[in-house]
Amino acid sequence: MDDLAFGVRNKRGDWTPKARLEFAPFWDRPLRLAKILAWLPGYVWPWNAFHLATALLYWRFVVPDAETMKTISWGWALRLYVANALSIFALYGAIELFWYVRRKQGVRFKFNGKFPADNPSDVFWFKSQNLDNALRTFFVGIPCWTIVEVFMLWAFATGRVHWLTWADHPVYLAALALLAPAIHELHFFAIHRAIHSPWLYKHVHSVHHNSINPSPWSSHSMHPVETLLYHSVALWHLVIPSNPVVALFQLHVAGFGALNGHIGFDRLELTEGAALESHAFAHYLHHKYFEVNYGGDGLIPLDRWFGTWHDGTKDGDALMQARFEKKRARSNAGRAA
Ligand SMILES: [Zn+2]
Ligand SMILES: [Zn+2]
Repeated sequence: MDDLAFGVRNKRGDWTPKARLEFAPFWDRPLRLAKILAWLPGYVWPWNAFHLATALLYWRFVVPDAETMKTISWGWALRLYVANALSIFALYGAIELFWYVRRKQGVRFKFNGKFPADNPSDVFWFKSQNLDNALRTFFVGIPCWTIVEVFMLWAFATGRVHWLTWADHPVYLAALALLAPAIHELHFFAIHRAIHSPWLYKHVHSVHHNSINPSPWSSHSMHPVETLLYHSVALWHLVIPSNPVVALFQLHVAGFGALNGHIGFDRLELTEGAALESHAFAHYLHHKYFEVNYGGDGLIPLDRWFGTWHDGTKDGDALMQARFEKKRARSNAGRAA
């Protein structure tokens, strides 16, 4: 595929899409029904459908029965950890293997023209971003994800929270599942904004930001406090009346979906003519510029409301520079006073 038909590459080899990042069309005024209808399939397919499918597979084959989950034990907790670790190893590992080790697509559609493996750095364990990120994923990220998962399932099994059944509340639960990505967006934006406060950034979030040029292994490379906060999005389903399958879907939107912001390519070429859209650009810009795009891919325009949106264009760049300039002027004025 010719990536230059869809974007431009600068002298450093970094590729930028021509199309500006947009918010979901139901925020447009006036509302355009045709645009909303055209947007909907991409909201469901393939990523959210994939997260739902994995949640259903877990419910069928991995999650034990309610009786077992009434008592927290190492047995079923480890079973969940192994399922999470193997799934992430298979999904993230496959993309790492084909797109980052074998480099089957070269740098076509790649935002950063370099590969992390070609730039050893002291900020990482063993000077390797890949090794550092992968170790943190399996020894910090996924254990914390599993802790949240065990607690959430135990709360449902012991009757501490509402367990609505699909038979009694099919429409409500389906609507809640449809809204899960929006719940994710609100939760992620709130915790992400909080961990960018200076003290928390220094002690917690900087671990994640070591990866300026992220790859899939960067997705779960977080400080334990961050990864616990991140996955605790599923605990909203202990507050909102819900069902454990919907809560599990919510957890998978976080756990499996963390991949999307860190793929590093705008599209993953699958065949000569077909490519998978990654939805990675907005969060790639966050890793590049730090103080833009605290939210996700534009499902809710939180970054626009808070003045931190970067749409990937030159206009977005100019707005960001003006904001940084103002911030510098304020801090200089503060120092002079
Ligand atoms: Zn990130
Ligand atoms: Zn951040």
